[in-house]
Amino acid sequence: MNNQSPVPIVPRADHSVSRQSISENALKVLYRLKKANYDAYLVGGGVRDILLGKQPKDFDIATNASPEQLRDLFRNSRIIGRRFRLVHVRFGRDIIEVATFRSGHTDTDDDTLARVADGLIVRDNVYGTLEEDAWRRDFTINALYYNIDDFSLVDYTGGLPDLETRTLRMIGDPVVRLQEDPVRMLRAVRLAAKLDFNIEPQLEEQILAQGERLELVPSARLYDEVIKLFFSGHGQHTLILLEQYRLLQYLFTLTSSCLSKDDYPEKFIQIAVRNTDRRIADDLPVTPAFLFAAMLWPAVQEQSRALEKVGHSPLQALNIAGGEALQVHHTPVAIPKRFRLVMKEIWGFQNRLEQPKGKRALKLVEHPRFRAAYDFLLLRNEAGEPLDELCKWWTEFQQASREVQHEMCRTLGGGSGRKRRRSRSGKKSSPNKSE
Ligand code: ATP
Ligand code: MG
Repeated sequence: MNNQSPVPIVPRADHSVSRQSISENALKVLYRLKKANYDAYLVGGGVRDILLGKQPKDFDIATNASPEQLRDLFRNSRIIGRRFRLVHVRFGRDIIEVATFRSGHTDTDDDTLARVADGLIVRDNVYGTLEEDAWRRDFTINALYYNIDDFSLVDYTGGLPDLETRTLRMIGDPVVRLQEDPVRMLRAVRLAAKLDFNIEPQLEEQILAQGERLELVPSARLYDEVIKLFFSGHGQHTLILLEQYRLLQYLFTLTSSCLSKDDYPEKFIQIAVRNTDRRIADDLPVTPAFLFAAMLWPAVQEQSRALEKVGHSPLQALNIAGGEALQVHHTPVAIPKRFRLVMKEIWGFQNRLEQPKGKRALKLVEHPRFRAAYDFLLLRNEAGEPLDELCKWWTEFQQASREVQHEMCRTLGGGSGRKRRRSRSGKKSSPNKSE
């Protein structure tokens, strides 16, 4: 940073951020801070997205007030922070995140900033000035500040020209900044996908070089990032970039190794991610359990087939393979237990759906996990598994009256269902109706 250069301020007349694009609650917080004589700026994704003509997902505020001063100022607030201390100001369900200016000092003597030997920042709570706060942020386009005092923009790091050229550029040296926090690689991919920006070549090179450092990231933090990667509505593009930058292997290790072997896994995962994007676009609910079950399915299926070959029953094989796939060395992302249970149910259900013997089908449709498992079956069919007839049977079965359902069960008989669950390349199967 160069203290000689003038503060790079863009006056209100020369930029497009208007108060109309800022949420009422964020404005309330900004004005309250100003009234109490603190500095207050909108920063991060909020400013960036408004400048790009997009609706911001959330509004982050930076100030010179300390967390304690903030808590005193806002009764509806609390101090939070796993890594940094932030203040959440709550308005009903809406939360505005307010952070005190931080510096990114590398001074290891300072015990408020702990670093481990290889450059990774573990704790980072040194308060600083506006300028220092700008330089410790990740990308130039994320370090633009909107000043509530005079409605100007402050751009220390060159974010505005990078927005113009749609460039995602790391602030400072990408070698060091990715060492400090490897999650920045995932953030780069997520933002490049969401905004359709190009990752600047030096950053690109370092992502390819430093991917392995994601192994140093705690699994809970990886989980938070993975949720943002796949549930922000741009999953498809994100997946392409994760593969291109060879990062998927640090999130879903087994999936990544399956992808190189066959076309089906790639197709299956792409369809699952695309469906999630569509559901988000249509405002339909999405559950991480379903998408994660899909992410791991090709690997689970492969392993389960191998187990069947050595004598396990199909259900046993699926259970064992599912349990293994979820172990931390295969899935370093800390998927919460409640989702892991659902994932296992979805996998186990695949076997039962493939053999709707006798009256069992009547019970299965009533099961709370049936819908997810059925959707999962459709996904497998769409990706090229020979399950056309079976899917049709289940679709019809669900829509049928109770009487017709009984009839459909009867005609199923005790079943040759096992025949159906063969290889993807095998010929199209039909459900075991009595022909
Ligand atoms: P989104 O639209 O997803 O909210 P965002 O850029 O606002 O994108 P946040 O996670 O809300 O992302 O972070 C807010 C801001 O905090 C970022 O814009 C960036 O300036 C800074 N930031 C977040 N994570 C990091 C990080 N790992 N390293 C440095 N700065 C970060
Ligand atoms: Mg944000």
